[in-house]
Amino acid sequence: MRVIERSRADATWGFGVVLADGGLQQLAAADPESFSAIEACLHWIPRQVFTVHDEDIPIDKIRSGGAIGRLRLLQILQAACRQAGVALQFETHVSDLDVFDDCDVVVAADGSNSLVRERFAKHFRTATRLLTNRFAWFGANRTFDASHITFKTISGGALCGHYYTYAPDRSTFVMECDAPTWDALGLEEKTDTERRQITQSFFAEELGHADLIENNSIWRRFPAITTARWHHDRFVLIGDALRTAHFSIGSGTRMALEDAIALADALTCGLSRDAAFECYAQTRRAPMEKLARAAEGSFDWYERFSEKLKSRTPGEFALSFLRRTGRISDERMLRDFPTFIAHARASGAAGLPASDGFPAGGQHV
Ligand SMILES: Cc1cc2nc3c(=O)[nH]c(=O)nc-3n(C[C@H](O)[C@H](O)[C@H](O)COP(=O)(O)OP(=O)(O)OC[C@H]3O[C@@H](n4cnc5c(N)ncnc54)[C@H](O)[C@@H]3O)c2cc1C
Repeated sequence: MRVIERSRADATWGFGVVLADGGLQQLAAADPESFSAIEACLHWIPRQVFTVHDEDIPIDKIRSGGAIGRLRLLQILQAACRQAGVALQFETHVSDLDVFDDCDVVVAADGSNSLVRERFAKHFRTATRLLTNRFAWFGANRTFDASHITFKTISGGALCGHYYTYAPDRSTFVMECDAPTWDALGLEEKTDTERRQITQSFFAEELGHADLIENNSIWRRFPAITTARWHHDRFVLIGDALRTAHFSIGSGTRMALEDAIALADALTCGLSRDAAFECYAQTRRAPMEKLARAAEGSFDWYERFSEKLKSRTPGEFALSFLRRTGRISDERMLRDFPTFIAHARASGAAGLPASDGFPAGGQHV
């Protein structure tokens, strides 16, 4: 068995990723050693804060989990491969699928620009929606005491910073803006470095007046990718090659790990190759569709968020954020988000779920 990777062993793009508890539990059951190694490196995130118009709104943290550097995660997974006798072949760019002619099974884990998916696009029935928001993935040489989502209103639009600490001295900082803001700031004509300088200036206080760190920090539009079919001949798709999960729901890495676990289980339980591929697809389809619906609700909410900011109070804006994936019913909000509800109620937000003693609509004394 071999893994072919175009990059160096110690290269990655981006910074840290969040791994939530659900995905970690599946990993703990499938590969306890890798789980322990990952768990030992996780930087636990104690709370979440949503900031709008300089008002901090606490969002109750309902799931545990933590963040890890992407490079550290890769090193742990590479060590697990070596221990299992898998040959790792780095700095090898695959441009022709003929190199796999001698293989029984080819697992295409080649990311959102998957060559395998593109080569058999008609068969896989791929659909791609390029979102209109722009984002770039940076690092920051400082730590934060919470996971933050901060919205800054600027002339002509708004910016959003998603940031959290993933190592003792390092944080992830994803900068995002919608299309009207991109135009208002004239970012299309700028270089990536100029875009960083312009956008980070609005977060100078949060960044302690330091520069954001770049690592392939290209400003991009997110491709929301889905595929109807999951395998073709000897090729089977997993992770971002199969479908992307918008970064605002922080689940892409978890989904890739869960795909790999389900595929490994199917391939080692005595089925023929094609039956194993089908078994993998059946196991993963329902959770994937559930996540796709949540991701769609989330990225639709983020598209043109500057417009929503104009017409809502901070509490109402935060309320619509919590409802964006359709997963949080009023009942669940009252049960799992008491700090948020108390804060929003105190600030007079309209549209809050009704509860005993409090009418819906945010009346307070
Ligand atoms: C800004 C941002 C923040 C995110 N935050 C989170 C988060 O907090 N939590 C989370 O779970 N997910 C997060 N994600 C999503 C996560 O990064 C992806 O879902 C995850 O990396 C997918 O893993 P993958 O292995 O499928 O693809 P990738 O990580 O893209 O890996 C694909 C690999 O294939 C290699 N490759 C590609 N083509 C070839 C070729 N032709 N030949 C040889 N090698 C090739 C690439 O070099 C790469 O190493 C985030 C994504 C973004 C953009």
